[in-house]
Amino acid sequence: MTNDELIRRAEGAGVKLASFMYCDNGGVLRGKSAHVSRLAGRLDSGVGLTLAMQAMSDMDDLQSVEGMGAVGETRLVPDLTTFTVPPYSPNRAMMLCDMMDTDMQPYAACTRDFLKRARAKAASMGLTFQAAFEPEWYFARETAEGEFVPIDRSLVNSAVGAMIAREAVDDLVDALEAQGLRVEQYYPELGHGQHELTISHAEALRAADNHLLFKETVRNVAYKHGMLASFAPKPFPDQAGSGCHIHLSAWDADGETNLFYDQTETQNLSELAYGFIAGVMKHMPALIALTCPSVNSYRRLAPGMWSTAYMCYGPDNREAALRIPSRFSGSEMASTNLEYRPADSSANPYIALGGLIFAGLDGIEKGMRPDERQYVDVDPGSLGAVELAQRGIRRYPLALPQAVAYLQADQTLTDALGPDLANSYMAIRHADSLHFGKRDVDYEIRHHFHKY
Ligand code: GLU
Ligand code: MG
Repeated sequence: MTNDELIRRAEGAGVKLASFMYCDNGGVLRGKSAHVSRLAGRLDSGVGLTLAMQAMSDMDDLQSVEGMGAVGETRLVPDLTTFTVPPYSPNRAMMLCDMMDTDMQPYAACTRDFLKRARAKAASMGLTFQAAFEPEWYFARETAEGEFVPIDRSLVNSAVGAMIAREAVDDLVDALEAQGLRVEQYYPELGHGQHELTISHAEALRAADNHLLFKETVRNVAYKHGMLASFAPKPFPDQAGSGCHIHLSAWDADGETNLFYDQTETQNLSELAYGFIAGVMKHMPALIALTCPSVNSYRRLAPGMWSTAYMCYGPDNREAALRIPSRFSGSEMASTNLEYRPADSSANPYIALGGLIFAGLDGIEKGMRPDERQYVDVDPGSLGAVELAQRGIRRYPLALPQAVAYLQADQTLTDALGPDLANSYMAIRHADSLHFGKRDVDYEIRHHFHKY
């Protein structure tokens, strides 16, 4: 779509404001809007944004990070392919943006550019990634006393849960389709008021964009129906956590052949896929700081909750960090993928997916094989401490500061992020850990509930 076509589309739809949105280091979708009459001047040169924004903690507490203070600007430059006029806001358009320097080079702390760099590295190895995010969330209402209450007490996959949320979910599906997001599956999840809906896999950057558009749509549709949608990892401590598992597969440059697939191997996985698994396993403790980045994330990562807690991999193993999903009969190649489970929707999807790709590519590049002792086809929580130790199967970092320490020590991932992104990312994680570390669980939940 050209600039002119976009402006004609916006005007034709009666758009007044077009929002230039970006996902920040904290996983928060933020942005500024331009009036439609000013769009012509803004689509190429972007809208201005203070350089401080990537140093803003989840509490909007500006952290001291070099180059991210009161002086200096970046530009939010929209990717026109993400332009949408969502049905829930018929006069307000939205575009997802890259952060650029004022000379229009990618800004070093741009998270979308981080995923683009992961894509470029994959492309240099002849690979393109297909990915899908599998988000869970809660529908809740806030009482006059400020308490969040789930909208139902229904069971997983239950017709009652589907009934209570039906009008909202049907509107949601309409709104997603109107924005070109292909819906795969929907069902009421285990927790009271918890739901899950998946969007079809797409090329990595598009999949991450889609995940942001998806969450924004869920939040808005819920709001219209008098509810709040929470994508927090553990909004109700006594209920199931909300994960956002990431599925991915590596294809050839033309996107014709799934290079994770090997018909002859027991799990239908190729050497390349095993190299990817090995890389992810190697970097996992650090990677978790990118995929489970909020303080609330670590309340979710407990054994026995299907949220996974141990660094291991296994076939259709929902307690393993990496699940090897069984293939669908008749579409074995197309359905071969890996599911990374220690991820949630408080993550910035560009950072989470970019980190995952960089980690996996490292394994492929180094010709690594996973440690077969970490292949687990039972619930790892059922293995005793001695066996876990003998097989080199470790728990995840138990809290955000530990995960961030692993990240800091992981040169592959910090080099991939680059100093500006790595430093600002870790600075806000430190700030959040300190802030919430001094407060109780109610406060933690209140401030995570519908931020992401
Ligand atoms: N709610 C679980 C999680 O926190 C996932 C359940 C499932 O397997 O879908 O990841
Ligand atoms: Mg689920």
